[in-house]
Amino acid sequence: MDVPAARVVYPEDDRSAVADAVKEILATGALTLGPRTERFETAFAAVHEVPHAVAVNTGTAALEIVLRIAEVAGRDVVVPANTFYASAAAVLHAGGRPVFADVSAETFALSVATVEAALTPATAAVLLVHVGGLITPEVDAIRRLCDARGIPLIEDAAHAHGCSYDGRFAGSFGLAGAFSFYATKVTTSGEGGMLVTASDELRDEARIYRDQGKGSFGANHHVRDGYSWRLSEVNAAIGEIHLRRLKEFIETRREVADRYTAALAGLPGLQPLVEPPKCRSNYYKYMVLLPTGVDRAHFKREVSERFGVRLPGEVYDLPLHHQPVLAPYADGPLPVAEDVCARHICLPVHSDMRDDEVDQVLTAISAVHADLIG
Ligand SMILES: *Cc1c(COP(=O)(O)O)cnc(C)c1O
Repeated sequence: MDVPAARVVYPEDDRSAVADAVKEILATGALTLGPRTERFETAFAAVHEVPHAVAVNTGTAALEIVLRIAEVAGRDVVVPANTFYASAAAVLHAGGRPVFADVSAETFALSVATVEAALTPATAAVLLVHVGGLITPEVDAIRRLCDARGIPLIEDAAHAHGCSYDGRFAGSFGLAGAFSFYATKVTTSGEGGMLVTASDELRDEARIYRDQGKGSFGANHHVRDGYSWRLSEVNAAIGEIHLRRLKEFIETRREVADRYTAALAGLPGLQPLVEPPKCRSNYYKYMVLLPTGVDRAHFKREVSERFGVRLPGEVYDLPLHHQPVLAPYADGPLPVAEDVCARHICLPVHSDMRDDEVDQVLTAISAVHADLIG
């Protein structure tokens, strides 16, 4: 049996609960911006111990709404080079200019030093991405740097459902956090996103933006440059029912990660990204640096063809300043981001992963390690 790169885990009981919810939604005719969305928002805010959550139709929309409220138009936003395209696209759609920053090889995240190097007189915000579910121990120092500059820290927490640092949850470190419920994320609503914040004002603004910038639900006067960013009630139900599994999913994922970390300690040259002290990851990705000079594509082919182990996609393989469409914003080399993008692999982590699957992954990695790295 092969170990897949990723697997959507939506248990049978939960599928039945969704079927019941869909019947109810269709029977009542409350198809959008209704009680299911509110329930999803309340539950998501509670899990992350933040006062407010506003549901939208994608994680990218959640980011763009926060960036619009932060008024980044015509100004610069610091974005790490090793993130998903959407982080930069949201800046562009909000009218801002992404300024790509380097990262730390220990966390794959921005650091105080790399943010400082990317600041300009026109910087309007800093976008911190919790790559793979790791929250950098520099998060508070980055926040202080932003405060000193009078600019907001915004979290792209698409990878970080339920992650914490020092007992505080992703989404609570800055002005707002944006989460995604795309199918591959730790919990999913099919498609969907969520913005969390402690600010009453930002919550109110976000509700206006997500519904065509309308001043109020019933009214037909448009007060903001909003868009059609609403989440449907069906997607909200799928997301809220899945969210109830988050705690057990994270426990399973952390057990898998512990087994990987223990085994990799015996494989010199393979360098897992260990969880920094006080950081509690959901292991959206289990990231491992390969030694310089090892051919990653060859390594991945070997574990796949000889052992049936498919390694998931990297986070990320091509940094944003090398993406063709972002070329106008590329400005000089970012050596650490380029190096980690080129040199890491991710091991498969599933929310219902079995011990025999972990065994199979470790057998594959040890054998290919012996052949290619030794
Ligand atoms: C998935 C993801 C997004 C975008 O989420 P969508 O729901 O697909 O729009 C943004 N940033 C990062 C880092 C992501 O992984």
